[in-house]
Amino acid sequence: MAGLQLVNLTKRFGTTAAVYDFSLEVHDGELMCLLGPSGCGKTTTLRMIGGFATPDGGDILIEGHSVLALPPERRPTAMVFQRFNLWPHMTVTDNIAFGLRLRRLPAAAIHRKVGETLQLVGLPQAARKWPHQLSGGEQQRIAVARALVLEPKILLLDEPFSNLDARLRVRMREELKTLQRQVGITTVFVTHDQEEALTLADRIAVMNKGVMEQVDTPGVLYRRPQGLFVADFMGTMNFIRARYHRDRGALAGGQVGISARGDWHDGAVVTVAFRPEDVTFVDGDAGIPVQVRRVVNLGHYLEVTVDGSGVGAIKVFTDGQRPMSEGQSLNVHFRRILVYAEGLPLVEIEMPRLTHLRTAEEVVEGSPSV
Ligand code: ATP
Repeated sequence: MAGLQLVNLTKRFGTTAAVYDFSLEVHDGELMCLLGPSGCGKTTTLRMIGGFATPDGGDILIEGHSVLALPPERRPTAMVFQRFNLWPHMTVTDNIAFGLRLRRLPAAAIHRKVGETLQLVGLPQAARKWPHQLSGGEQQRIAVARALVLEPKILLLDEPFSNLDARLRVRMREELKTLQRQVGITTVFVTHDQEEALTLADRIAVMNKGVMEQVDTPGVLYRRPQGLFVADFMGTMNFIRARYHRDRGALAGGQVGISARGDWHDGAVVTVAFRPEDVTFVDGDAGIPVQVRRVVNLGHYLEVTVDGSGVGAIKVFTDGQRPMSEGQSLNVHFRRILVYAEGLPLVEIEMPRLTHLRTAEEVVEGSPSV
């Protein structure tokens, strides 16, 4: 069952749509990340769910009921912001208890709930402290506690860890994931950081310019991005522009030829995409001849930039077993490629057969984009 449904949501500021015809179902207990570049409409979407912004069109359903008519405080949602979450003039206990007092819960129940929630976020010792006595990470944990204590149906988080240093951010992500599983609360988490989304989310909704590009599990998004935007946005991807030659059953880009048959029309320009880990170095004449331009040792793997005539620079991740030096000539092969053509579904080709097409008319005009 969908805990939260966004149905054709649209929000305009002036004449521009910050969010356009956006639909999404978040399952009960699921952690959904809204991911996309700055300005793509993530926060606006979250604010509409929380009741802090009014949509110009569409609907928001929680457990099957529209919440559009409800003000924020009457919605079964709780929101944690990037910063300024705690009231500085109140102790931690008072911060957490605030919403419960508004609901006129008996003092004993408030005391018990605040204690339990502090335990849940691992900070029972902070009860009597003031916000300024807590680290940034502790403050955000209390902010999460303050949201959870209200027992909302939906927890909304807007880049809650973006002001923390990198190491703490990673730890907080893990803590949040554990906490979210433990409580089982349906959660929407906004981030522009793909690593954060990949580590946290059950599913990720990728947004671009106010519209939904793709919603999928992290694994599927990474392996099978449906469009060029997601392919480029998630992780590192190499791209070669190529042209389809139907009579030869081949895609030709730069001086690379790839045997392929597809629904592309003869002469269609397509984009061939492949991950750095899907490029292998091969011995002998097989593969595409390239030269090593740069080798960066990233500890557990090497990031090697190679370039071949006509294909531009290609990034390769390799384990460092094979000696690698700048200027060296090598051949590369692809383990797996994705082919994008406008208006057609993505085509995946495992272990594509490479051919050498070196005549001028087979080379796509202009330099291939990488
Ligand atoms: P970021 O990651 O930078 O927070 P975002 O994806 O959350 O970005 P939004 O804050 O939702 O993006 O903004 C989407 C678009 O709507 C942007 O172009 C922004 O300038 C515009 N916008 C947001 N709020 C308002 C507002 N109150 N008035 C006018 N324009 C707004």
